[in-house]
Formats: sequence, structure tokens, C-alpha cells
Amino acid sequence: MRGKPASMSSRSPVPRPAPWLRKQAFPVRLAGCFLFVALATVFVGFAPEDNPIWVANGVLLTYLLLGSRRRWAAYLGAGFAAQLVGGRMVDPHWQTIVVLSALNLIEVLICALLLRRRSTRPLCFTDPAYLVRFIAFGVLVGPLIAGAIFALVSATWLHTAPGAAFFKWSAADTLGIAISTPACVAIFQTGFKSAVSWRRHAVHLGLFAAITVAAFASLKLPLMFLVYPLLALIVFRLGLSWAALAALFVAAAGSWFTCHNLGPFAWMRSASPIAPTILLQLFVAFGMFIIYAASVVLENQKATERRLQEIVSLHTLVTENSRDAILVADFDGRRRYFSPATQKLTGWTAEDLVNRSYTELAHPEDRPKLEQLLRDLQSGVEGAIIEYRVRKQNGEYFWVESSLRAIRDARTGFASGILDFTRDISERKQAEQELQAAYNTVEALAGTDALTGLANRRRFDQCLTSEWRRGLRDHNPLSLLMIDADRFKAYNDTYGHLRGDSGLKQIAEAALDVVARPGDLVARFGGEEFAVVLPNTSNDGALQVANEICDALRARKLPHMGNPFGIMTISVGCATMVPAFGQHAANLVELADEALYKAKRSGRNRVCSGNALNSAADQLQHNRLPKATVAGTA
Ligand code: GH3
Ligand code: MG
Ligand code: MG
Repeated sequence: MRGKPASMSSRSPVPRPAPWLRKQAFPVRLAGCFLFVALATVFVGFAPEDNPIWVANGVLLTYLLLGSRRRWAAYLGAGFAAQLVGGRMVDPHWQTIVVLSALNLIEVLICALLLRRRSTRPLCFTDPAYLVRFIAFGVLVGPLIAGAIFALVSATWLHTAPGAAFFKWSAADTLGIAISTPACVAIFQTGFKSAVSWRRHAVHLGLFAAITVAAFASLKLPLMFLVYPLLALIVFRLGLSWAALAALFVAAAGSWFTCHNLGPFAWMRSASPIAPTILLQLFVAFGMFIIYAASVVLENQKATERRLQEIVSLHTLVTENSRDAILVADFDGRRRYFSPATQKLTGWTAEDLVNRSYTELAHPEDRPKLEQLLRDLQSGVEGAIIEYRVRKQNGEYFWVESSLRAIRDARTGFASGILDFTRDISERKQAEQELQAAYNTVEALAGTDALTGLANRRRFDQCLTSEWRRGLRDHNPLSLLMIDADRFKAYNDTYGHLRGDSGLKQIAEAALDVVARPGDLVARFGGEEFAVVLPNTSNDGALQVANEICDALRARKLPHMGNPFGIMTISVGCATMVPAFGQHAANLVELADEALYKAKRSGRNRVCSGNALNSAADQLQHNRLPKATVAGTA
């Protein structure tokens, strides 16, 4: 019995023997083997007639199943000797004893070889697969082969009917092994130190023993029907080991009383001399069947419980240690479960959350989309991810990402609630916002002229294109002013480039002072040229804006010695088009450019319109503004 002993029950701790006993373990076991096999032989051999249940082989088989293979020879020797000695005490015929003992040895060896092809395989009679192997090889094949040899031998030497001899041997040995091997394995492996204390169940055991004895001893008390339920009770309360021992007790008591012509089976002798034995064997066999069946059911139940426990432990491990808050809630808003991370994340305790509706803590702006999502989940959507703000216990809002899934009833398929994995994404959101701000800045810089702070040429092009498209859709007029500083080269030459730059800023500011409508855009077109996009503005309106810009600059009275007007002035070309298919924004720029050159050619410091239709109004403006200015500055 070296190596790690296989456990009969996973709950049963294996008792450690005393140190002196451990040193002498094998001789002690060998002596035990001899003693128990001899006792079993004597006990059954004392029966006044043929043995109804032969348990000695089951005891010896236990030693082989639990011991290492190199000890088998010793155990078989001890078993053989025990059967010779025991047999000699009950039977004076040496030859018969030797032959029967040798046959018993063959039977045990066959069973052991078939059952322990791999010596490391643990013995577990509650494992359905092992139980099937045990019944097939241990209970049936071994005794049947030995029974066949016995039938052959007795037919040859004693001239008895081989069928009866085969049946007698096989039935007695089959039952003997079926009862005694599981009982002995259980006893040797656990020593009855089951987690279920037998003392608590001593009443059951005592009651069982008393009822069994009474049932077999007396005909008057019909107690036999109580034996099976009590046997089942022992399996459920104390386990297979005690139940197998109880079955062994039934077999012993039954054999004893039946062989002494007592009890409910003995009276059948009048019908047939072997009837009591067969009835007793059947009775014990059914008892063993109940024990095995109940213990398999119990083991399956225990295995299911263990699996469930493992799943529960795993779930607890995951939910307790998850950094995400895990929530389970009803659709009506009642939350049923919160993982510990919920409080860490929000500051709200489980009690706080139970009384609040699911959407109550969401930011008012985010609540509608969350409510919509819950409605979607209820109406069949499997799951969704949503980002929203949640109010913490301290009143602050923080961004979370919730992965929501509908919990469906396995039978009906109806959504009964929501499983919610929520994680804090405030850091990610902040990073996103910073990134967006940086992008906006870069975007703005990319569209801004560094000197004047106006929109640059790139943004001007984008704006003009989009406004052209809008005009195309709306059939509204689009106006463009092209502004050019007069004699600016001379300004630079006179006052230097830095003053020149500040002059350009003055022109930009003057334009911005005038252009106030949200859709309008003042841009630096390039060099000392500026452009103003005026969406939805007629040519008259555009001319008015252009003249106001000229006035605004003149009003600044920036000295410009190189300019005949004495101050810094600008010339403006103004153009208006109602965008139409077949034309382009570039046509408007060309038109405004032409008007600008017209203004330059006409003496500068003026506004010219590129639109022939408006030439009269244009002229009117020309006549009014430059002259007045010239008069003012001359
Ligand atoms: P006109 O009235 O015909 O427009 O004469 P103008 O001298 O303004 O025209 P021109 O195109 O000959 O000269 C433009 C000058 O504008 C040339 C350059 O010195 C000046 N200029 C262009 N960009 C800048 C700038 O960014 N800063 C400064 N200081 N000067 C600039
Ligand atoms: Mg120019
Ligand atoms: Mg110029």
C-alpha cells in the first residue's frame, strides 16, 4: 500500500499511522491479510451447508488492489496460507482445501490483473466508469472463470453436475467480492475517518444492526422491508464505506440465520434445498445494487456541486477584482448587484444605489441617449456601448464607458434586466479633449495669417468655395472685395519694412472694424492685398462695405509721403455674382481683380465695381468718396 493512497471520498482525510507502525507497515499488512482472510474463511466455512456468500476472496483482492505489484506474491502467499489454515479448521479434507484455495487464488489474481492494469489508477467506487469496470472484471469475469474451472474439476473428480457447481461457486464469489471489496477498500483507505462523524449516526447504525438481526432471526416480525431503506439511509448519511460494511453485516447475519434454518428465507427449504441460499444471495445483491446506485447519484451530485462552487468562486474572483464596476439591474431601474469597484469608482455605496433609478445619476444632457439605449435593449437589441457622464457621490461628474447587455430568460428569451460593465474613461476623455483643442489650434494656425491674424489664403479659398456652393444652392448673390494698398512699395521704401508691416495690420484692423456680419470673412490674399468675402450680399451692399473700409482707413490718417493723398489709402475692386452652373468662384475673383485694376488705373484710393450692371451706382460711389477724401487730404 505504498504511494499515494487513492481516496474513497474526496472529503476523507487519510489517517497517518503511528511511526513504529509505519516502519513495520508491510509485515503488519501481511499479517492483517493472513488474519482477515483466515477469519473470513472460518466464518463462512462454519456455515452448516454450502457457502451462500464467499467474502475471503474479496478481502484478499482488496490487499492486491491497494498494495504495490511487487508485494502481490507475498499477499497471495499469505492469502493462500490463510485459506489453508482457515479451511483446515472447518474441513478435514486437505486435498479439497488445497484445490479450492488454489482456485480462489486464481480468481483473485484474474480480478486484480484486470482491475489494475495500470497501478497508478486510483480506486474510486463512486466513479461510474470505475464501478462498471469493477463489476465487469472483479465481480463477473474473475468469479465466472474460477466457477467454470471449479465446475470442470468437480465434474471430473467428484462427478457432480457441472451446471450446479458453476452456479454455486459463481453466485457465492460474485456476491462476496461485490460486497467485501468496496467495504474493505473503504475501511483500509479511510479508516472510517469520514468527515461525517459516525458517532452522530450511531443510532442509525445500531438501529440497522438490530433490525437486520431481528429480520433474519424471526419470522414473526416482518422487518425485512426495512433493511433496504435503512441501507439507503446509511449511504446518504455516512457514505459508501459504511454502507458496504452494513451490507457485509447483512450478508453475515443473513448467512448465519438462514443456514441455521431461521428467518424468512429458511422456510423456502421445503420447496428446494438451495432456495434459501439463492433468495439470500438475491437479497444481498439487490442491497448492493441500491448502495452502488445511490453512491453514484451522490457522487454525481457532489461533482455538480463542486463544479458549481468552482464557477461561483471564479465569478466572485472576477467580479471582486475587476477594476470595472459590474452591475446587474432591472429595467425598471432597480439595481440587483454591484461589484466592489462600483463604490471605488463613484463613491456611492450599495445602499445609496439601490434606491436610485438607473438613469438618475447620468448627466441630464446624456440621460436621453441612455434611456433610449435601455429601451432598445428591452425591445431586442443584444448589447451596446455608451459613453456618458455619471454623478459621483461628491457631486462631480466623470466620464464612463458602459458596455450594456440584455440579460435574457433562458426559457422565454425575454429581457429581464441589464448587465453593465462600467469603466472610468475620464482620463481618456481629457486626453481626447486636449487633443481636439490642440487640433483646433493647429487648424486655426494653419488657416491664419501670422502678421495680421486674419484668415490666410488657404482659408480664404475654402471659404470662397463653400460660399460659392451655398450661393449655387440658395441662388443668393455672393460679393467679393479685393483690396490693395496704394503705393505700398514706396511706403516700405520710406518708412522701412517694419512700419510697412504695421501699416498692413492697420489695413486689417480697419477692414475688421467694418466687416461685422458672422458669415463675412476678411482674409490676407497675399503681400499688401486683402480680400473680403461677403455672402448673400448685393453689389450695392458690397460697394457700401468697400467704401466704409476705405473710410475707416482714411480715418486713421496714417502718414504716407509716397502717396499723392498724403495718407495711407487703399483701392478696392468689388464684384458680385449669383453663382450659376458653368461658372466658378475663380470667375468672381477675376471680376474683382479687374475692378481693382480699374480702381488703380482710375487714380487709386477708390472703389470700383466689376459688375457692368452696377456701373452707375459704382460711378456714384467713385464720385462721392475719392473726391471728398482727396479734398479732405489735399
Ligand atoms: P500700387 O499702388 O500700384 O499697388 O503700388 P504698390 O507699390 O503698392 O505695388 P507693388 O505691387 O509694386 O508693391 C507692393 C509692395 O508691397 C511690395 C512690397 O514691398 C510690399 N509688401 C508686400 N508684402 C509685404 C509685407 O508683408 N510687409 C511689408 N512691409 N511690405 C510688403
Ligand atoms: Mg499689389
Ligand atoms: Mg499696392
